[in-house]
Amino acid sequence: MGERDEERLEEGRMLFAGPVAFLLGVADIAGLPPSFPVEVAFAGRSNVGKSSLINALTGRRDIARVSNTPGRTRELNFFTVGDGRLAVVDMPGYGYARAEKRLVRQWQGLARDYLRGRPSLRRVFVLIDARHGIKPADEAIFDLLDEAAVNYQPVLTKIDKLKPEALERVMAETAERLGKRPAAHPQVLATSSVKSTGIPELRATIARLIPAGSRS
Ligand code: GDP
Repeated sequence: MGERDEERLEEGRMLFAGPVAFLLGVADIAGLPPSFPVEVAFAGRSNVGKSSLINALTGRRDIARVSNTPGRTRELNFFTVGDGRLAVVDMPGYGYARAEKRLVRQWQGLARDYLRGRPSLRRVFVLIDARHGIKPADEAIFDLLDEAAVNYQPVLTKIDKLKPEALERVMAETAERLGKRPAAHPQVLATSSVKSTGIPELRATIARLIPAGSRS
């Protein structure tokens, strides 16, 4: 790892070393808070490991539990990071097993409004369970993101459950399938919340989205 990479990882670490707090849950687009300078959102199928990843990212064990409390699972949950330059938005889980179609449809209402009307939203991290790869529900979300022209990046979760060859395969497949999509960021991030793998890199990726002048 070069000096530049070390520097980036340190910027990411510093960004999340400060306070992180739950701000509010939004059930209706009219309830959105004023835009933060930079917003990043996390989306993924239910059970993909989104809460665990947000907890690992922020270094707080229970920060994302609030998003999973009854009444909050269908909301956009806003967390402020550091001195208010960044908000992390926990989007509702979508598409899981039999409820897939209905959940994707529900997700599309509020989420679509948010995605379309939020210039400060720099990137949506779309979480993909590394054991399962991209599912049809994920494709539906990619379509929506492409259509809204919102930059998004795939993040594989639970990679501790895979052997190295299987991980390599799913990373290559994911990159290939997203390579053709206009709004997708081609780099696949591989993470494990259990082992903290890839978490410093994810923090560094987010830190790079904040304009340099206001980073520290
Ligand atoms: P959410 O529904 O997307 O918020 O998912 P959760 O964070 O609640 O995780 C769903 C399940 O996956 C739970 O049983 C977690 O313990 C498990 N899980 C989450 N992240 C990881 C991980 O990195 N590795 C492993 N092995 N399990 C994980």
